[in-house]
Amino acid sequence: MKQQDRMHDLIGVGVGPFNLSLAALLDEIDDVDSVFFEQKEQFDWHPGMLIEGTKLQVPFLADLVTMADPTNKHSFLNYISKNDRMYQFYFLQRLDIPRREYNDYCQWVSRRLSSCKFGHEVTSIRHVKEHEDYFEVTVKDLKTNQSNVYKTKHIVMGTGSVPVMPKSFKGLPEEDVFHTADYVPNQDRCRSAQSVTVVGSGQSAAETFRELLKEQRECGFRLDWITRSASFESMEESKLSLEHFSPDYVKYFYQLPQKDKDEIFANQGLYYKGISNHTIEDIYNLLYEYSIGEDQLNVGMQVLSEVRGIEEKDDGSGYVLDCYHWQKKETFKHHSEVVITATGYKPHVPDFVHYLSDFLEWDEKGRYKVEADYRLKKTEETDNEIYVHSGISHTHGVGSTNLGLAVHRNKVIINHLLGREEYKLPDRSIFQSFDI
Ligand SMILES: Cc1cc2nc3c(=O)[nH]c(=O)nc-3n(C[C@H](O)[C@H](O)[C@H](O)COP(=O)(O)OP(=O)(O)OC[C@H]3O[C@@H](n4cnc5c(N)ncnc54)[C@H](O)[C@@H]3O)c2cc1C
Repeated sequence: MKQQDRMHDLIGVGVGPFNLSLAALLDEIDDVDSVFFEQKEQFDWHPGMLIEGTKLQVPFLADLVTMADPTNKHSFLNYISKNDRMYQFYFLQRLDIPRREYNDYCQWVSRRLSSCKFGHEVTSIRHVKEHEDYFEVTVKDLKTNQSNVYKTKHIVMGTGSVPVMPKSFKGLPEEDVFHTADYVPNQDRCRSAQSVTVVGSGQSAAETFRELLKEQRECGFRLDWITRSASFESMEESKLSLEHFSPDYVKYFYQLPQKDKDEIFANQGLYYKGISNHTIEDIYNLLYEYSIGEDQLNVGMQVLSEVRGIEEKDDGSGYVLDCYHWQKKETFKHHSEVVITATGYKPHVPDFVHYLSDFLEWDEKGRYKVEADYRLKKTEETDNEIYVHSGISHTHGVGSTNLGLAVHRNKVIINHLLGREEYKLPDRSIFQSFDI
């Protein structure tokens, strides 16, 4: 293991959109020595859900830099311009760009940033106290399997989220029973199946169901959608509701007592968990179209029903789902050859963060505590900081995973890192008041 003597100002763990945005903004600032490590071979944004026709759920203005500096060379519009697509984009007249294009844009930016190192996994972090305190970061080069140790004054964690698969669904053949996060590589498997069932009713479930619905008649499979929810609820997308995804709401939410925050956040599911109206519209239009004429609609949509377990059939022809209709309090069985779980994501907090447990402050639910400016709270007096993007919904609220607030968060982080106001933060950014 080689020890690198150079002392960096900042090491980033993970290069998803949040840390990529930070790397892009720091590219314009000369006095910060930063390096960002990503375990994937290249930038790739939720590749299993890059379904053709799906759209980014925020306007393209929430790119990696524009909300901080519209003149930044890493902007989405510069990507369009440098790729000679300005007129096509102009005539397109849309704010909601294809999700595949957002990924392509981020890949374009990542290739222009020498600070982003792909194929490198951060495996541990240690706080070292010598004449000068610093963090020692161990990084494994996944091509050579060789580990190197880097020194840095500060760290920024951008390790994102990982899919959540219910326990009872684990250990079954992965080509038959998989999470929506793995949908795209399994599309051919679905096409060849007799029956496909989607479990869950968030945006990922709806996008997967819509895509399957488009192919269902031609491929000839039976398609079902089952959810525990009382309805296929739509996301709250009115403009005034969207103001919850603003710096003002973050500021208001942050200063509330933790108990209140937990209660409020638990009741805000419709701001981020429901289905976009346009996706529901597409699905309904397809169903209506298919219902014309003699053909029977070979599609089922079941609400109020919890899937409690799954068993492989003895003859290998598929799976039996144990379901429970919680209003009628009755159980029933459902058969399907392929089962896709749309059971959400949880923040990915790597194990090595827990090894820093004595260095960090934790709440009674085992979550780290976070300062208003996104620094993890520490038990020790030291100038070394760990900034964090992921797993902060409990402290900073419903907008924490939203792309539209990432640049604002990075402005706050950069101002703290530099100890000066590199970016002016807005006093007020929305029309309504949350605080008094
Ligand atoms: C399918 C899907 C669609 C979404 N669509 C939208 C949308 O349209 N609009 C919106 O506002 N939000 C959306 N979100 C929410 C959110 O914006 C995204 O989840 C976003 O990717 C979060 O960015 P991130 O940088 O935190 O994490 P991620 O994109 O999850 O990236 C984290 C990266 O860290 C890497 N990593 C983890 N551990 C290590 C390690 N130890 N060493 C090195 N690398 C590591 C991972 O490989 C990963 O690449 C969506 C979420 C999902 C799941």
